[in-house]
Amino acid sequence: MRRVQVGIVGAGPAGLLLAHLLHRIGVETLVLEAKSRAYLETSPHRIRAGVLEWGTKEILLAAGLGERMEREGLEHRGVYLAFDGALHRVDFPTLAGGRSIWVYGQQYAVRDMIRLHLERGGEILFEHEVLGVEEPERNPVLVYRTPEGRTERVQTEFAVGADGSHSALRGLIPGARVHRRTYPFAWLGILAETRPAAEELIYASHPRGFALFSMRSPTLARNYLQVGPEERLEDWPEARIWEELALRLDGVAEVRPGPLLEKSLTPMRALVVEPMQHGRFFLIGDAAHVVPPTGAKGMNMAVADAVALFRALRAFYLEKDPTFLGSFTEEALRHVWQAEFFSYWMTTLLHTHEDPFAEGLRLAQLRHLGESPHLLSFLAENYVGLHTTGRWAETLKALA
Ligand SMILES: Cc1cc2nc3c(=O)[nH]c(=O)nc-3n(C[C@H](O)[C@H](O)[C@H](O)COP(=O)(O)OP(=O)(O)OC[C@H]3O[C@@H](n4cnc5c(N)ncnc54)[C@H](O)[C@@H]3O)c2cc1C
Repeated sequence: MRRVQVGIVGAGPAGLLLAHLLHRIGVETLVLEAKSRAYLETSPHRIRAGVLEWGTKEILLAAGLGERMEREGLEHRGVYLAFDGALHRVDFPTLAGGRSIWVYGQQYAVRDMIRLHLERGGEILFEHEVLGVEEPERNPVLVYRTPEGRTERVQTEFAVGADGSHSALRGLIPGARVHRRTYPFAWLGILAETRPAAEELIYASHPRGFALFSMRSPTLARNYLQVGPEERLEDWPEARIWEELALRLDGVAEVRPGPLLEKSLTPMRALVVEPMQHGRFFLIGDAAHVVPPTGAKGMNMAVADAVALFRALRAFYLEKDPTFLGSFTEEALRHVWQAEFFSYWMTTLLHTHEDPFAEGLRLAQLRHLGESPHLLSFLAENYVGLHTTGRWAETLKALA
């Protein structure tokens, strides 16, 4: 049977970044991905996150994955909140220690990671679906199906489930607790060929519901509408979407309709798996936790997990120190719960609630936020990311 040091299931941001970081320090990895390369890089179903935290950008640059992002991505030094018919700017550098965010589509980041990882000798097997992991605790063997339909196995020293929010590998952690929350909203998202409503993101809270006006480039707008969890795409023809977006923007900026490239519905839910490890098997990214997209945290959490597991495996392989592997869950859950909290806070603060009492509380806090630099700093610090710890800096140094 073939052997590798670290076997990784899933070529999303979590799996690809971990593979690339380990490959750089000479640890042999194999990534098994169920879908084709073309699907990951071009399918409209894979247009997902677009906001990179300060720390995420730093890691991608330090890992040699950020050249295109720096060239084609957009640095944003703030976002707008819109409510009561006015715009309120959240200035990141002033409120969050000089830091900012980077707008760069997840699909582009994935494309860069695949290309650079393969160019530097890394291995990814596309269209290889993992069917299970045998003996995950002591001696993990990945069992997978080849594109020709054969079932094969690879012996690993460590196996990593980075297989996304519908993870089938989650169940491999005996006794794991899965904490879940379902929010009573969904997002109707569109990608359109048109100029975005503003140069920075607008989070609009309107009595008709929440709307987000964002972008992928100066000519590609990515907009979202809060809708009920039971709504269907068929009920939202193009004209209705543009009309509703304009109503919720309430005249504070201009919505310019343009051809739709994609339209999707995303339910708002959260999930945390605890612990994220069992023996020699680890979960990272959406496989271990899901957040509603309001705080723009999903991809950033995947990156933070990959960095934490990289640090632990690096200590194990280069310094023969297994301590960090033992405490991986504890370390990862710190940033996970922080991001879950921020995503929860943004979601309940910005979406309209049916319950008038909840709605009264929400509006009271939103209006206070508009007047309080302290509350705005809380938002800004969380939005640009809280990776200011010595550990993050250590990883950056190790990659230099
Ligand atoms: C529609 C949508 C919109 C989103 N919008 C945002 C947003 O605006 N902001 C934000 O921050 N986050 C957003 N997210 C979340 C963000 O995209 C995720 O948090 C991020 O993709 C997590 O990365 P990951 O590597 O953990 O998982 P994924 O990117 O899901 O990657 C997992 C990979 O594993 C593969 N896989 C699954 N099962 C197997 C198997 N058995 N064998 C082999 N391979 C397998 C999958 O094909 C996939 O390529 C959105 C997600 C979705 C679905």
